[in-house]
Amino acid sequence: MINIDSDSQLNNLAANLAHVRSRIAQAAQSAGRSPDEITLIAVSKTKPLELVKLAYTLGIKDFGENRVQEAQQKIAGFQAQGLHWHMVGHVQTNKASKVVSLFDCIQSVDSLRLAQELSLQATRQGKRRVILLEVNVAGEKSKAGVSLDNASELARQIVSLTGLEVQGLMTVAPLVANPEEVRPIFRALRTLRERLQEELPTSQWEHLSMGMTDDYTVAIEEGATIVRIGRAIFGERELKQAKNEGNEP
Ligand SMILES: *Cc1c(COP(=O)(O)O)cnc(C)c1O
Repeated sequence: MINIDSDSQLNNLAANLAHVRSRIAQAAQSAGRSPDEITLIAVSKTKPLELVKLAYTLGIKDFGENRVQEAQQKIAGFQAQGLHWHMVGHVQTNKASKVVSLFDCIQSVDSLRLAQELSLQATRQGKRRVILLEVNVAGEKSKAGVSLDNASELARQIVSLTGLEVQGLMTVAPLVANPEEVRPIFRALRTLRERLQEELPTSQWEHLSMGMTDDYTVAIEEGATIVRIGRAIFGERELKQAKNEGNEP
């Protein structure tokens, strides 16, 4: 028997993904880059595990979540070859142990205290976790992330922590009407990476995780190696749920 519902879900998802992938390829080409340099993370927050599984069948291996509890249920319910889970939301220090056990990559490290706790938990669990430093480039009060001014100092303190492997930077750009307005934000993150590559050359500063549904093509033109895309893949999120974004209950 054909399940019409999941059939049309799959068709929608396939069309959305094809669209996103072709825009990624176009943006990369227009910047003289190879699309292979760019990892697409499907941000599945607020979306059901069924959609995650469908996206996986369409070739998505990297998924982003922003709340520990929600992610825990999905991760527990889905084991598959090559899957990577990325924590992209704010992490409370008391959740460090869970975050280390659940996620392959923690993109939202923005304080020494959090990094130290992640390091401690990773060491205890005998794990090594990839982390990115989250930078609040525009200095928005409502957003997490270390300031541009303090990023270099935080980076220096974090690179030596055991159990963690810093691989680059992450930012969430301000919400704007025209994505061109945030081009300088992405450029500033790339410039910071160049500075860190000089100051702390023994660590890898390969990754720039920047660009979401509204601004990923601009981010790619400015050097993004990771884009984190939710709505353009899975559709709009419900308002009630969207309000909780980035906040742990
Ligand atoms: C929700 C979220 C995304 C995806 O946002 P879309 O606008 O749905 O593409 C990316 N990064 C972070 C940190 C998020 O919280």
